[in-house]
Amino acid sequence: MPLGCLDTETEQLAFMHDNASWECLRLRNKAKGNLRLPCCGSKVILKTLKLGTRFFAHKHRGVC
Ligand SMILES: [Zn+2]
Repeated sequence: MPLGCLDTETEQLAFMHDNASWECLRLRNKAKGNLRLPCCGSKVILKTLKLGTRFFAHKHRGVC
C-alpha cells in the first residue's frame, strides 16, 4: 500500500492530502497520467478505503 508516489517533479504523499486535494490529484492523474510509483515507475491509481485512508496503487499489476 504505497503512501507516496512521484509527480512530474515533486513527491506526493497520500497522508498530506485532504478530501478536496486528493480528489483534485485524482482528476489530474486521470487526465494526464502524471503520477508514477517510485518502486517500478508504474502508473498510479488513487484509492480511498472506507475508513478514509488514502493510498496509491499500481494501475496495472506488475512485478511488484
Ligand atoms: Zn511497483
